[in-house]
Amino acid sequence: MNFVFDFQEGDGTDRDLLGGKGAGLAEMTRLGLPVPPGFIVTTEACRAYLAASDFPQGLWDQILGAVTRLETRTGRHFSSAVGPPLLLSVRSGAKFSMPGMMDTVLNLGLNDEIVTLLGAWANDDRFAWDAYRRFVQTYGRVVMSVPGDSFEEILSELRDREGVEDDSRLSAAALRDATSRFHALVRERTGRAVPDDAFSQLEAAMRAVFESWNSRRARSYRRIHGIPGTLGTAVNVQTMVFGDLGDDSGTGVCFTRDPATGENRPYGDYLPNAQGEDVVAGIRNTLTLDEMAALRPEHHAHLLKVMATLERHYRDMCDIEFTVERDKLWILQTRIGKRTARAAVRIATGMVGEGLIEKRDAVIRVRPDSLNQLLHPRLPDDYAGEPITTGISASPGAATGAVVFDADTAVEWDEAGKRTILVRWETTPDDIHGMAAAAGILTSHGGKTSHAAVVARGMGKPAVTGAADLVVDQQRRCFGIGDVQYTEGDVITIDGTTGRVFSGEVPLVEPEASPELEELLAWADAYRRLGVRANADTPEDAALAAQWGAEGIGLARTEHMFLGDRLPVVQRLILDEDGSDRKAALEELRALQTADFEAILAAMDGRPVVVRLLDPPLHEFLPDRWELESERDEAVAAGRDSSEIASLMAQVARWEESNPMMGMRGVRLGLVMPDVYRMQVEAALHAVRRRFDAGGSPRLELMVPLVATAEELHRVRLMIDEEIALAERSAGRTLGVKVGTMIETPRAALTAADIGVEAEFFSFGSNDLTQLAFGFSRDDAEAHFLSKYLDDGIFPASPFESLDERGVGRLLRMATVEGKTANPRLQVGICGEHGGDPASIRFCHGAGLDYVSASPHRVPVARLAAAQAAITASGN
Ligand code: PEP
Ligand code: MG
Repeated sequence: MNFVFDFQEGDGTDRDLLGGKGAGLAEMTRLGLPVPPGFIVTTEACRAYLAASDFPQGLWDQILGAVTRLETRTGRHFSSAVGPPLLLSVRSGAKFSMPGMMDTVLNLGLNDEIVTLLGAWANDDRFAWDAYRRFVQTYGRVVMSVPGDSFEEILSELRDREGVEDDSRLSAAALRDATSRFHALVRERTGRAVPDDAFSQLEAAMRAVFESWNSRRARSYRRIHGIPGTLGTAVNVQTMVFGDLGDDSGTGVCFTRDPATGENRPYGDYLPNAQGEDVVAGIRNTLTLDEMAALRPEHHAHLLKVMATLERHYRDMCDIEFTVERDKLWILQTRIGKRTARAAVRIATGMVGEGLIEKRDAVIRVRPDSLNQLLHPRLPDDYAGEPITTGISASPGAATGAVVFDADTAVEWDEAGKRTILVRWETTPDDIHGMAAAAGILTSHGGKTSHAAVVARGMGKPAVTGAADLVVDQQRRCFGIGDVQYTEGDVITIDGTTGRVFSGEVPLVEPEASPELEELLAWADAYRRLGVRANADTPEDAALAAQWGAEGIGLARTEHMFLGDRLPVVQRLILDEDGSDRKAALEELRALQTADFEAILAAMDGRPVVVRLLDPPLHEFLPDRWELESERDEAVAAGRDSSEIASLMAQVARWEESNPMMGMRGVRLGLVMPDVYRMQVEAALHAVRRRFDAGGSPRLELMVPLVATAEELHRVRLMIDEEIALAERSAGRTLGVKVGTMIETPRAALTAADIGVEAEFFSFGSNDLTQLAFGFSRDDAEAHFLSKYLDDGIFPASPFESLDERGVGRLLRMATVEGKTANPRLQVGICGEHGGDPASIRFCHGAGLDYVSASPHRVPVARLAAAQAAITASGN
C-alpha cells in the first residue's frame, strides 16, 4: 500500500487521501509555483496508525525513501555531519481545515552538531540557535508533553537578563543558553532527552501528529463543526525555508479577497525577518500588504501574481502562507480561505458577476448555517458612544455580555443563561469550548489571522482582537484600560465589525438582508423544490418571517396566546366546575383569539397560515402547587384564612399528571373538553371572514396536534367541518379553509394511510416525534444524559437539533409515502425544530415533503439549504 506521496506525484484533487493542505501542496507544485519540496503521508496511514497504535507495515520504509529523494532534490543532508543541513517541518492536514487544533513541529533535524552546520550555511549563528531553541521548545511541548509555559518562563528570564522586550532581540548567546536549558527542562520533566538522531525525531513527531487527531481540543472542534472523527489527518513533511534570515526575509499570510467583507482586493499580514508561527501567534504587530509593497515591491508583485494564479485555478478565494527567504518567495500552503458569511455571499455573487463561476456554484458554496452570522445583531449605524478601546475588527457583528477570563467560566455562565464576552491575552486551541459558549471574544493581542480571529469567524461570533491598550490580568480576573479596571462580571459590548469596545450594554439593532444576500437567495429559490414557511405566533414574527421570504406560516402555536395577562382568564376556564364562569371565560378568549388570528392572517395575506389548536397539558396554565403550598403555610402561620388556597391546591392537584408530556394534551384535550377547540375554531373562522370583508386573501389551515389514531382526527374533524359549514353559510361564500393534522406520535406515522384520508395536510411535529420515538423527553435528556451521550459518541449529534435519519427519519419517510398514496392531494410539511436544520432539510427533500417550516430568522438558512438539497440530489 502506498502511504507516501511526493508533492509532485500526489493527486491535488484527492483531499480525502492527502488532506486539504497536502492536496493544495501537490496542486501548487503541479502548477509550477515555488513550493519547498516535500511529501505527504496519507490519511489512510493515520487511520491505520490510530487503529493499531503503531505505524502500518511499510510506512516507515516509504518515509525513509521520501527523505532520501528530498535530499537529492534539495542538495541538502538530513541527519548528517555534512552540510548544508536539511531541516523539515512536520504538519497535520486533515480533509477539512482545523486551524491550530492539531500539532506541528518545525525545524526538525537539529542537534548540537547540526546547529553549527546551519549557522555556517546561513552565516548567522544567532539564526541557527534561534531555530534550534524553537525546535526543542516545540518538540518538548508537542512530542514530550512538557507544558508550554515552562519554556516561556525561561525565555522571559532571558529577556529580562538582556533587557529586551521580545524574543527576536535575544542574542545568540542567550538563545544558546535557552536551548540548553530547554533540553535540561525536558529531561527533568520527562526523564528522557530530546533525541539527537534526526530520524528518531521524525518518527516521534509523526506519531505525535497522528495522535493529535484525537486530542481533546481537536475532538471538541470536530463536534462543533460536524467533522467526522473517522477521517484522520494527513501529515505534510516539507523542507524548511526561513523567513528570519534578515531584512531580505519575512513571512506572512494572505487572502486573495478580504475574508471579512468579501471585497475583491488582496488582503494579508506580513512580518519581516520572522518565522511563520510569529504571525499566527500575534506576538509582533504585522504589516499590511500595502506596507509590504512599499518595503519590498518585487516580492509583493510576485506574491500578487501567485495569488491571481491560485484564485483563477481554484475559482475561489484562497488563503496562502508564504515565506521570503533571502529574496526568494516560497509558497508554503494554500487552501480555500475561511470567510465570514458576509464575505462568502459577496464573493460567491461577485464571482458569478465576474464569470468565474455559475449561479449554481454560488448557491452551493455558501454554508446555510453561516447565514446566521448575517442575521446577527449589530450596533446602530449612528451609534455615537465613546469606545473604551479599539482593536482589530476580527469577526463581524456585535455582542454584549459579562466579561469572563477563562473558557470554563464562559461555559458555566452560558449554562446558567448568562451571556459572556471571553477576554484573553490571546486565545489558544484549548479555549475552544469557551469560545463556543461566549457571545463574543476580545483579545489584547493578535491580528486578523490570529487564532481568536480565525476560530471566531468560523463560529460566526463577533470578535475584536489586538486591543493593545487592554492589560489583561488572568490571575486576578480583571483587565485595565489606563486607570479603569473591569472585573469578572462587568458588562461590555464589543463590535467585531469596527473593532470598537464599549463599557456597559449597548442596545443592538436587528439585521436585515443585503442586496447580495437577496440575490443569492433569489437564485436559491429557483433551484429548490421544498417550500419554506415559518413558525410564528405573533403578527410581528409573521411580518419578520415574510420579510425573510417565508411563503406562509407552518405553525402558529396558540398556547402562547393564552399567557401573560390572559392567564387569569384561562385559569378561570380550567378551574370552574359548575360552568358559568367557564362560559364567560370562553367568550372572552374567543374575542381575543379572533383578533390574534386576524392580525396574523393580515401579516401573511395571500399565503397559507397553519393555526394549531391548543396543545399543552392544562396544568401548565395553573399556579405551581409548591408555591401555593408555601402561600398556604404563610397564611396559616399569620393566622389568616387559608381555605381558598387549600381549595385551589386541591383543584391544581386534580390536573397533575405523572407524565404530562404523554397525558391530557393535544387532541385528547379537544375530545375531552370540546368547547375549547370549538371556541378556537370559531375564532379562527371569524378572523377569516373579517379578512375577506376587509378585502384580504386569508388562507387558513387548521391543525390538530398529537393525533395517534384516525378516529381521533375524524371526531375532531366532524366538529370543525360543522363549524366551517355554519360559517360559510352565514358568510354566503366558501372560506377556503383546510384541515390537517400533526404527525408527531409514532402510531400516527405508522398509520399514516388511515389518517391521510381524514386530512388535507400533515405536518411532522418532529420535536415530539423524536421524544416519543426515542422514549425520552427532551428536558430530561438535556438535563441528565444527552451531553454525556454526545461526548462519548453514543449519539453523533443531538436528535433534537438534527433529525435522526435512521429512526425518526424512517417514520417520516414512510408516513409521507403512505399518506400521499392514500390521499394523493395530501400536502406534507415539517414544523419541528428540524425544519430549520440544513441536514434535516436535505433529508426532507429526499423524503418527498412539500415544505419545511422554521423560525423566522432561519428562513434564509432554510431557503438556501433547500436549494442545495435539490441541486445535490439532482446531481447537476
Ligand atoms: C413538535 O412536536 O415538533 C412541534 C412542532 O410541536 P411542539 O414543539 O409545540 O410540541
Ligand atoms: Mg409537538
